[in-house]
Amino acid sequence: MRKRLETHRILLIEDEKKLSAVVARHLTGEGFAVESSPDGEGLMKRLAGSSFSLIILDLNLPRKSGFQLLLELRAEYATLPVLILSARDGVPDKVRGLLLGADDYLTKPFDLSELSARMQAILRRAHPAPQTTLSAGDLTMDLLNQKVRRGSADVTLSRKEYALLEFFLRNKNQILTRKRIAEQVWGYTFDTGTNIVDVYVSYLRKAIDDGASQKLIQTVFGQGYMLADDGDRK
Ligand code: CA
Repeated sequence: MRKRLETHRILLIEDEKKLSAVVARHLTGEGFAVESSPDGEGLMKRLAGSSFSLIILDLNLPRKSGFQLLLELRAEYATLPVLILSARDGVPDKVRGLLLGADDYLTKPFDLSELSARMQAILRRAHPAPQTTLSAGDLTMDLLNQKVRRGSADVTLSRKEYALLEFFLRNKNQILTRKRIAEQVWGYTFDTGTNIVDVYVSYLRKAIDDGASQKLIQTVFGQGYMLADDGDRK
């Protein structure tokens, strides 16, 4: 399993002690931080005091049912991920659970690996990984470390060149007018009458395209520039 950057806190609401212990042990082994609760007592208070990434919810519970808990929870937390884990395998129960706002419904008996795979799927949707690299052709930009490589070679850029390249990469394969580039990279909202964009594009070309068999930055006559995945081969 891929290592997670953050530890997800899971609240497991399950009254069957043995099952609860088995699930908690498995999930802890998978890198989750698990808190167990044998019923929904004080659920809202518990949620208010800490940040859980996901709740695993049994349906047949003492006192309040899982359905009732889900209803109360959804009134306050519209998007907190909930996975129902229940022996109730009838379609009406599944439909009811999902309509009440559960993100997934797994019936007992179940396989522990399926439980964690479903949890990962829910968490991926809830917390999409931020984009950390941009690329075009064999050029890559590492946004975390602000490093640029063309093929296997490091590329050194000034701050403005870097900003210009990032703008090109985020809008690659599109024609960008000088006006739009000046607005987005330099913050100019008026025509300065300077050729600053052309000057910096030429710096950037020197840095990333000089000596490369494929030129990523293209001049689109009368319109502007474009950085293309399949640039001109010279
Ligand atoms: Ca139960």
